[in-house]
Amino acid sequence: MNNTQELLDFINNSKTAFQGANEVKNILDKNGYCEIKESEKWDLKKGGKYYITKNNSAIIAFEIGSGNIEESGFKLIGAHTDSPGFRIKPNAEINVEDHYVKLNTEVYGGPILSTWFDRPLSIAGRVTIKGEDPFKPEVKLVDVNKPVLIIPNLAIHMNRSVNDGYEYNRQKDTLPLLTMANEALEKDGYLIKLIAETLKIEVKDILDFDLFLYDFQKGSLVGLEEEFISVGRLDDLWMVFAGLKALLQSKENKATKVLVALDNEEIGSLTSQGANSSLLENILERITLGLNKDREDFKRALSNSVMISADLAHAIHPNYTEKSDPTNKPKLGMGPVLKIAASGSYSTDSYAAAIFKGVCEKAGVPVQEFVNRSDLRGGTTIGPITAAKLNIPVIDMGAPLLSMHSIRELASVKDNEYTIKAFTEFFN
Ligand code: ZN
Repeated sequence: MNNTQELLDFINNSKTAFQGANEVKNILDKNGYCEIKESEKWDLKKGGKYYITKNNSAIIAFEIGSGNIEESGFKLIGAHTDSPGFRIKPNAEINVEDHYVKLNTEVYGGPILSTWFDRPLSIAGRVTIKGEDPFKPEVKLVDVNKPVLIIPNLAIHMNRSVNDGYEYNRQKDTLPLLTMANEALEKDGYLIKLIAETLKIEVKDILDFDLFLYDFQKGSLVGLEEEFISVGRLDDLWMVFAGLKALLQSKENKATKVLVALDNEEIGSLTSQGANSSLLENILERITLGLNKDREDFKRALSNSVMISADLAHAIHPNYTEKSDPTNKPKLGMGPVLKIAASGSYSTDSYAAAIFKGVCEKAGVPVQEFVNRSDLRGGTTIGPITAAKLNIPVIDMGAPLLSMHSIRELASVKDNEYTIKAFTEFFN
């Protein structure tokens, strides 16, 4: 129950990848982890607890093991901080009929668009501000934290066939309403003025922003016995949270424990803070060098390493049982799920699966398996990219979920406990 409320608080606070990475940072700070910068020289100690952040939206935390790193290697748990939704475009205000002001947005990743309609929405993300040196703009995280936006549906009387299936146009149908036109506000730009007021800074100092919409309504428990968790961004902040809990509560270990929370998985990971970059490899090498070891020691350490790529898995849906594979039907509340695909879009093979099954058995946690129906194209995640880049076994898994990529996703309280237990045992 305690872990459930903590998870809800964590996600409620993590409105975008920026706030998510910052939330992880705050928890690490409280638990004695020390921030180190990529630009500094690293002098690391056995048993030391450190983290680095990248782009304010990714974070890698690690506890140096007591063994020789080239022999004991790394134990990694990886997940992603970003979630599908809407990103605000530059010059976003659109004035309609001299009366409404709406915002121009673009879709980020693959959200279920219809779930974003008729809900109070707010704005959060990152703002860049004029600094002393043009090469070093100042960065501030921002959360408007008021329900300033809404995407109104069209009345059914004007779209009689809406319940027969409707194809939403991403440039027309999904633009959120901000206000009614008002001359006094107009001259500075409504959005920038709102951001400046929120941050208590001058409009003229704002150079640019990465702003996203989020569901203003907080997550909650639902179900007859409050056995379900209903909140957005479970994909994949839930696995970030479970990995973080495991990192903090696991025992000191010979291996170096690493929590990897990267950004931009929902748009393919090809950014400097995403999984399809050299970031993770660089940081693991820097850890080895920071312990006064050499490049060969780093390669040896990798050969003794294993990673869990933790993203979510589709549970069987009560209204669409036929969408699941005929023999592999993960259920909510029945434990973490190994994700398997002949195409390699998930990295689990029998070797990686065996490691995870062994860990779960020791932890007393049940394991399930997910494979797509052979006539459905599934998703992918950071697992295969990381396995290919680091040449290590990567267990692709996730806790079971319904409504993936809806503005509110649905999970089970029990699976939160199971997953934290399994991850803790993995680190132990
Ligand atoms: Zn995901």
